[in-house]
Amino acid sequence: MSRLRFDAILESQKRTPLAVEDAGRRSEIFASNVFNDERMLQYLTKDALDSVRNAIFSGSKINRKIADQVAEAMKGWAITMGATHYTHWFQPLTGATAEKHDAFFDLLDDGRALEKFGGAQLVQQEPDASSFPSGGIRNTFEARGYTAWDPTSPAFVYGTTLCIPTVFVSYTGEALDNKTPLLRALNAIDEAATGVAKYFDKNVVKVSATLGWEQEYFLIDRALANSRTDISLTGRTLIGNAAAKGQQLDDHYFGVIPNRAIAFMKELERECLVLGIPVKTRHNEVAPNQFELAPVFEEANLAVDHNLLLMDVMDKVAAKHNFKVLFHEKPFEGINGSGKHNNWSLTTDTGVNLLSPGSTPMKNLQFLTFFVNTIKAVDNYEELLRSSIASASNDHRLGANEAPPAIISIFIGTQLGNVLDELEGVTKGKLSPEEKTELKLNVVGKIPEILLDNTDRNRTSPFAFTGNKFEMRGVGSKTNCAKPMTILNTIVAKQLRDFKKEVDALIDKKSLKKDEAVFNVLREYIKTSKRIRFDGDGYSMDWEKEAKRRKLSNNKNTPDALKVLTSADSISLFQATGVLSETEIKARQEVELEAYIMHVQIEGRVLIDMVYNQVIPTAVEYQSRLIKNVLGLKEIYGAAHKGLSDTTASIIENIGENMAELKKKTDAMRAAITRADKQADTHKKASTYCDSVFPYFLEIRGHCDNLEQLVDDQLWPLTKYRELLFIK
Ligand code: ADP
Ligand code: MG
Repeated sequence: MSRLRFDAILESQKRTPLAVEDAGRRSEIFASNVFNDERMLQYLTKDALDSVRNAIFSGSKINRKIADQVAEAMKGWAITMGATHYTHWFQPLTGATAEKHDAFFDLLDDGRALEKFGGAQLVQQEPDASSFPSGGIRNTFEARGYTAWDPTSPAFVYGTTLCIPTVFVSYTGEALDNKTPLLRALNAIDEAATGVAKYFDKNVVKVSATLGWEQEYFLIDRALANSRTDISLTGRTLIGNAAAKGQQLDDHYFGVIPNRAIAFMKELERECLVLGIPVKTRHNEVAPNQFELAPVFEEANLAVDHNLLLMDVMDKVAAKHNFKVLFHEKPFEGINGSGKHNNWSLTTDTGVNLLSPGSTPMKNLQFLTFFVNTIKAVDNYEELLRSSIASASNDHRLGANEAPPAIISIFIGTQLGNVLDELEGVTKGKLSPEEKTELKLNVVGKIPEILLDNTDRNRTSPFAFTGNKFEMRGVGSKTNCAKPMTILNTIVAKQLRDFKKEVDALIDKKSLKKDEAVFNVLREYIKTSKRIRFDGDGYSMDWEKEAKRRKLSNNKNTPDALKVLTSADSISLFQATGVLSETEIKARQEVELEAYIMHVQIEGRVLIDMVYNQVIPTAVEYQSRLIKNVLGLKEIYGAAHKGLSDTTASIIENIGENMAELKKKTDAMRAAITRADKQADTHKKASTYCDSVFPYFLEIRGHCDNLEQLVDDQLWPLTKYRELLFIK
C-alpha cells in the first residue's frame, strides 16, 4: 500500500503559519529594489538621464556611450543592493520568462578578478537560444537570438541578481518573444490614438495603454500537491472525485482565510512592493483555496512584466510557506476555475483617461470617440481577439461551461446603450445648430461622469465596459497578458487610424466641421457594429444560436481558435500596423499549436501512467479482498452464503465493470495518441489531439472517480479533493 498520501496528509497537518515580519510603511519599501527614475537621478549624469527618459517617452535609441554610463551606474547601484550577477530577463514564446545569469566579474588570464559589465552587456546579450521555441524562424535565418534592453521597464534586483528586462529577437530582427510585438503594438496605439486625441486637445503628445490585471490562483499544501503525479506534472488534477460534486464546498468552512495563507500573502505583498509591483492584495475567492491578487494599473508593458515577475515571486514565496501555487485555469473538476481579467484603457501624457466620461460635452465626445472605436475594433476582429487567449488549459474555461464563453461580445450597459441609440439618429452630413445643441445638451452632455451602474452588473461578459475602462475577462490565469494586450492594442490602433482618415476626409472634402465629421463617422460605426453588443449572460444555448445568427465566431478549442491568426485579414492587419511580419505570425501560430499538442500529449501520458500504475492496481487489490470475503462466507455457510455476500459480490462486479471500461478507454486513448503523433502537419496534429485524444480524458476520469468511490479509503493512493482543498 502506498503511504505517500497519508504521509503527506500527516505532514500538512503539522504545519503552522510562518512568522512574517510586518511590511512596515508601504511608501518606504516601495520599489526599493528598482532602478527607477528616482535612483537614476541619483546615479546618472544629466545627459544619460535625459537620454533614458527620452527612450522611455518617445522610444528613441540610446547610444553606446550613454549605455556604458547607464550600465556602470546600474552595476554600482546593484552591487550596493547585494547583487553579484546580472541577467537579461526576457519572455520566450513558451509563455514564462527566462534568464541567463552572468557574474559581474570576469577572470583575467593571470587569475585576477575583474569587474565586467559595460554598455555592451547592457544593450545586447546572446543567450543560447536553440532551446526556445521559435516556430522555425531561427532555422530559416540564423541560429542565434539576441536580447536587448527595454528601457521602458526598469531593471531590478531580485535575490542577488540584477534583472534587466529585454526583448528577444533573431539575428535578422524577427521577434522571438512576447515583448517585442507588444512594444510594437503599444507604439502603434500611441501613434494612432495621439492623432485622434489631438482633435480634442492639441497638447497631447503621447497616449499609453494601461493594464490592470487581476490574478486568480489556488494555494495547495506542498506535500499534498507533490503527492499527486498529475498536479506535479500538469498543474491540474486529471482524476479525482469532487467532494459534494457540483457544489461549492461549504462556504462557512472555507470563508475564513487560513492563517498560513495570510502569512503567505503578507510576505508576498512585501516582496512585490520591494520590486515595485503596486499590489493591493485581495482575498476574495470563489472556490475553496482560491484567491486573487490585483495591483494598481500601470502602463501596459510594465504591467505585463510585473505580472510575469509576480508569478515567479509567488512560486518562490509559496515554497517557503510549504505551498504550491496552481496557476492552471482549471485545476479541479466541478470547482470554479481561475482567470486573469485584463482591465484596459488609454491615457494621455496630459493625464486624461480617454475611456472616462468627462465633465463637458467636448470631453464626452472624446470619450465616445474612443469608446465607439474600441467597440468597432473588437467587432471587426472578434475572432482574432479570441485567438489571443487560446490555450489548452484555457479551453477548460472558454467554450466549456464556465464564464466567460468563447464567443466575444461586449457589454456596455443600458445607459450607454441608450446614448449610442440616440447617436444612430444623427443627421447625415452637416448638422443644424438646433441638432448640435440638442446633441450637446441632451445626448453627449447627459453621460454622467461616473457610470456606476456599469461596474458590477454583468460578471459573465467577455468584454465589458466598467465605467472608465474595458475589462477583458477571458484571459487565462496562466496566460502571459502580452498576448491579449498585443492583439487588443493592435486592432484598436488600426481602427483609430481608419477613423482619423474618414474624419479628415469629411472635413477636407465635404467641408464638415470637426465635431460634425466625428458624429457622422461614429454614427456609421454604431450602426455597423451592433452585433457585437450583448448585455445578457453568455451561458444559455439561446445565446449560442443568436451569436451564430449574428455571424460571431464560436471557436471552442485552441486549434480552431488559432486558425484566424494567418488569415489574409490578420496578416494585412499585422503588416499595416507593423506589429508582426507574415513570417513572425506564422511562426507564432506554429509555436502555439506545438504547445497545445505537447500539453495534451503530456496529460494523456500522465493519465495512462496513473490508470495503470495507481488506479487499476488499487482496484484489483480491493477487489481481491472482497473476493476473499465472498469465498470465506461460502466456506462457512455453503449454499446459504448467497444472501450474505450479495453486497460484496455486487461491489466486486461494479469494480470489474469499471476496470474493464477504464482499460478499454485508456488503451483506445493510447492508440489515438499514436495516430495523432503520425500526423506531419502541425495544425492537423493539433486538431487530432483535440478531437480524438482529448475527449477520452473525461471518460477515463469518470471510471477512475467511480473506482475512487468504491474502493476502501485506506487503500486509495491519490490524495483526495477534500484533502487537497483543505488548508489548516
Ligand atoms: P472590480 O474589482 O470590480 O473588477 P475595480 O474598480 O476594483 O473593479 O478595478 C479592477 C481593476 O481595474 C484594478 O485592478 C485596477 O487596477 C484596474 N483599473 C482601474 N482603472 C484602470 C485603467 N484606467 N486602466 C487599466 N486598468 C484599470
Ligand atoms: Mg474584475
